[in-house]
Amino acid sequence: MKSNVYYMDLRASYKDSLLSKLGRLMDSAGLSRVVGKGELVAVKLHFGERGNTAFIRPVFLREVVRRIKAAGGAPFLTDSNTLYRGTRSDALCHLETAMQNGFSHSVVDAPIIIADGLRGRNEIMVRIDKKRFQHVFVASEIAHADAMVSVAHFKGHELTGFAGTLKNLGMGCASRRGKLAQHSNVSPRVKRKRCIGCEDCVGHCPVGAISVHEQKARIDAERCIGCGECIIICAAGAVGIRWSKSIPEFLEKMVEYAFGVLKEKNRKNLFLNFLTDVSPSCDCAPYNDAPIVGGIGVVAADDPVAIDQASVDLVNQQPVLPGSCLADRLDCSPDKFKAMYPKVDWALQLAYAEQLGMGTRDYNLVKI
Ligand code: SF4
Ligand code: SF4
Repeated sequence: MKSNVYYMDLRASYKDSLLSKLGRLMDSAGLSRVVGKGELVAVKLHFGERGNTAFIRPVFLREVVRRIKAAGGAPFLTDSNTLYRGTRSDALCHLETAMQNGFSHSVVDAPIIIADGLRGRNEIMVRIDKKRFQHVFVASEIAHADAMVSVAHFKGHELTGFAGTLKNLGMGCASRRGKLAQHSNVSPRVKRKRCIGCEDCVGHCPVGAISVHEQKARIDAERCIGCGECIIICAAGAVGIRWSKSIPEFLEKMVEYAFGVLKEKNRKNLFLNFLTDVSPSCDCAPYNDAPIVGGIGVVAADDPVAIDQASVDLVNQQPVLPGSCLADRLDCSPDKFKAMYPKVDWALQLAYAEQLGMGTRDYNLVKI
């Protein structure tokens, strides 16, 4: 059976602002089914790394909060700490970064709680008995919430091809131990010809796995925890993923985590993807390159597979924006994510999630 994915475009007028359309979108997708009176509702989003500007604007989160309250719920905004060193790697700097990016109680009208605590160690173990994991480790405040509204910024990602709801759940709701378990087989390699020995990567490695000898970086695979920080930080593009086996396994692990996150919620979940500022890479980066397509809109559903499939399709139906990283490949349809990350098969995450019974890739796009 097909799932409904509700869609609002970005057209607006005096009578119908984007905020009122967002509220209608949430109602259409079943907010009243998800939120009960007095229930604690985790609004899971990404506050954006410092320096990034592609994350979802706080004013939209304020409207999400308003609608949840109107439905009787008690919402709080939340995300988990990062595995790598950055501006969101513990609760204090994470809250500071959120505030600098415009997210504060006074703006969004809800408290902000970092889901896995001060140092990313507050977690709940969830038994799933799947191929990659018997147990997964979910950030405790998300696990303890009665319901969840996932609000994901849809964009490209160097490890997953695209990042939407499944990534917001699987990676974004995991404690630090959970993130490490997902990443641990993804160990990068240094392309010696490109490396200029600048040592930028050395200081950013959270476990001291990188050293520089004779102006070339070297990664100690035994120490590396696969956080991916050096890939993002190397301006010379000298650090790459060992693609062949590791990416499919990583995607399956991420999906199993998403399965574990949803398992305890008894279908009390609503998912939103914002297809705005569709940047080539993750909001975890301290910058964002120009969007690859124009703003598309917002989609909402109670099916995490259908919403991501619909989002990929909507992006791929758009023309490439001149001035983006795909500008020299204006004819890269039908698959922009493949064009950006040719060695990542993004479809694997959807196929595996479907196999686990999390949803379906067949959907009806219902325009509101
Ligand atoms: S940041 Fe890149 S170029 Fe600089 S030492 Fe590390 S791998 Fe080499
Ligand atoms: S070497 Fe490994 S642990 Fe260090 S930054 Fe790179 S991916 Fe992360």
